[in-house]
Amino acid sequence: ATSASIPGAEVLTLRARTAAERCGVQPGALSGSRPVFSPVNGLPMGGVEWSPEIEDAVARSRAAFLEWRRVPAPARGAVVKRLGALLTGHKSDLATLVSLEAGKITSEALGEVQEMIDVCDFAVGLSRQLYGHTMTSERPGHRLSETWHPLGVVGVISAFNFPVAVWSWNTALALVCGDTVIWKPSEKTPFTALAANALLRQALVEHGHPEYVAQLVLGDGELGEQLAGHPDVALVSATGSTRMGREVGPRVAQRFGRSLLELGGNNAAVITPSADLDLAVRGIVFSAAGTAGQRCTTMRRVIAHHSIIDELTDRLAAVYERLRVGDPTTDGTLVGPLIDASSSSAMSKALQEAQEQGGTVIAGGTRELENQAPEAHYRRPALVRLPEQTPIVYAETFAPILYLLPYDDFADAIAMNNAVPQGLSSSVFTREVAEAELFTSAEGSDCGIVNVNIGTSGAEIGGAFGGEKETGGGRESGSDAWRAYMRRATNTVNYSGELPLAQGVDFSV
Ligand code: NAD
Repeated sequence: ATSASIPGAEVLTLRARTAAERCGVQPGALSGSRPVFSPVNGLPMGGVEWSPEIEDAVARSRAAFLEWRRVPAPARGAVVKRLGALLTGHKSDLATLVSLEAGKITSEALGEVQEMIDVCDFAVGLSRQLYGHTMTSERPGHRLSETWHPLGVVGVISAFNFPVAVWSWNTALALVCGDTVIWKPSEKTPFTALAANALLRQALVEHGHPEYVAQLVLGDGELGEQLAGHPDVALVSATGSTRMGREVGPRVAQRFGRSLLELGGNNAAVITPSADLDLAVRGIVFSAAGTAGQRCTTMRRVIAHHSIIDELTDRLAAVYERLRVGDPTTDGTLVGPLIDASSSSAMSKALQEAQEQGGTVIAGGTRELENQAPEAHYRRPALVRLPEQTPIVYAETFAPILYLLPYDDFADAIAMNNAVPQGLSSSVFTREVAEAELFTSAEGSDCGIVNVNIGTSGAEIGGAFGGEKETGGGRESGSDAWRAYMRRATNTVNYSGELPLAQGVDFSV
């Protein structure tokens, strides 16, 4: 099934403008010389101007930091609380922009904005809970404790597929932690960024704080490189491909800056003989076909026991043929477009290679709606049966391709899950407690996210989000991820009037 008509350039331009202006973006900012394309029809819907360099933004951010770090954390939290309220009020405007710029279906676009609101709530609570430990001192008359202080300027580099949520995970936490933020969004999604940043600027100004506490710079990877290399940027939080992380990581490390990397995934679900297949099919389809396969947590591999893989394949194929592909802003659409032509050709190339490596395309993979929208790239999500994990399976192809792979022994399934270079998300569908526990244990999945009886995508903000190996090792959002945005000072206070040395050292003069 596909939804029939795709809106033309004028309709989308007007919708995007209206939504952005309602969020406080100046009209002139939407008609710059760099065209901005909508994946919905593949046509431009306006343009932006790029920032020529990063120097001034960093200087302003550094100056704002010297003031912002003196604002008490709960008062910083009040700004984030206001941001949450503004996001709530503009939820549908921002979601419209997410759909038009990133191609997400309305429900997922609204979900992305809800995630921003949730992380604001989380950060507001955190603004009264930036706790440090008190340790027992080994010396009499001494107190040993730690304090957490703001870090400085935080640079946020984000990817197209979560055009605003990733910014909010970083920014809501960084702000309550007392840092200032410079955001370089994906060059593919500048309108959403302008809108989100306008709302934050409004919250800052209403509370009487300098607007330079949060800044937006527009540009491509070159501008990102400048941000990563600048010595006054204390933390670079970068979300995107592993290729990008390989460039950003060493650049930041060379100047002894801190980096938080959230890179590519290659996520699997293990489906055991005891799995509830109804549940598994629903979990797999949402994770594999949702967001047109363009989530870092998208399920790319199903590792299914040989006794159930045929039944599972048939059931998935039936659902895949029914998935409604089309205009993401139309009710009932489940699969929107790929972001651009290069994404679509990467999908074709991967399908070709999979077949050369012994794979069979069971369902999907076709291009859809080419007549209605020749510049857009709608693809039916593909299911591919492979006898084993051949080379194509080890790469993240950022498109909806799900590889179905058989296993005999649960230990082999875990080994297959862990065999890829990425380590973001994983899941097991089982009704055996021992299998669930083994999968989540130290001998189980080596990923940062390990789920039982749910798919690999759709994490809640309350947990720390991120992954191991080529996924970069960073953690964002919930739990104690805030610590990455602060520096720790260990304080020893001597109130004894004597000077006993640690470890019993005698240095009498
Ligand atoms: P991308 O790597 O092409 O771009 C991401 C961002 O990095 C953009 O803002 C881009 O301008 C910037 N950039 C590119 N080269 C750079 C360089 N040399 N120095 C500094 N900045 C640079 O990724 P994309 O296509 O926008 O997004 C898809 C990728 O992002 C996928 O690999 C996906 O798995 C990953 N992703 C990961 C997470 C996560 O949390 N782990 C979340 C979302 C997306």
